[in-house]
Amino acid sequence: MLSYQDKKALEVKGEDCFLLAECFFDRPFQRPAYLFNQRGKSAGTAHLQRNIIKFNPILYAQNRETFIEQVVAHEVAHLIVYQQYGKVRPHGKEWQYVMQAVFNCPALTTHALDIKDVIGRQFAYQCDCTRHLLSIRRHNKILKGAKYLCKKCTGELKII
Ligand SMILES: [Zn+2]
Ligand SMILES: [Zn+2]
Repeated sequence: MLSYQDKKALEVKGEDCFLLAECFFDRPFQRPAYLFNQRGKSAGTAHLQRNIIKFNPILYAQNRETFIEQVVAHEVAHLIVYQQYGKVRPHGKEWQYVMQAVFNCPALTTHALDIKDVIGRQFAYQCDCTRHLLSIRRHNKILKGAKYLCKKCTGELKII
């Protein structure tokens, strides 16, 4: 789905981040493998022990600038933090420090991407207090007999 130029643009940006971190911390960092098969609503994920970064190809195709400006640095920062500080909180002060001081990026933990194409179909349900939108996965479970209760009113969700 992604062209090799698309993939290369992410890897070049990733390498850029690693070089910045190496200059900043004055030490080498191990490079990750980049995969392009992240699914769902996540723009990307960093797998610390396996040293892998996965990018979401659908979201990237629709949000190229945000990926190059923010998402790559966000995920690379997770790997830098793991190699530099070990196991710490995922978006804690070390991660925020790398984002801001090393990458000169805002330390945002959520992204404002257009996700309508990856959410999939949603189904409207009703409890005693409000309306809920459920994914097709939950909807199918309910059709097979699962029950979901509203956390607020504890009423059972019923399809509208
Ligand atoms: Zn993160
Ligand atoms: Zn409710």
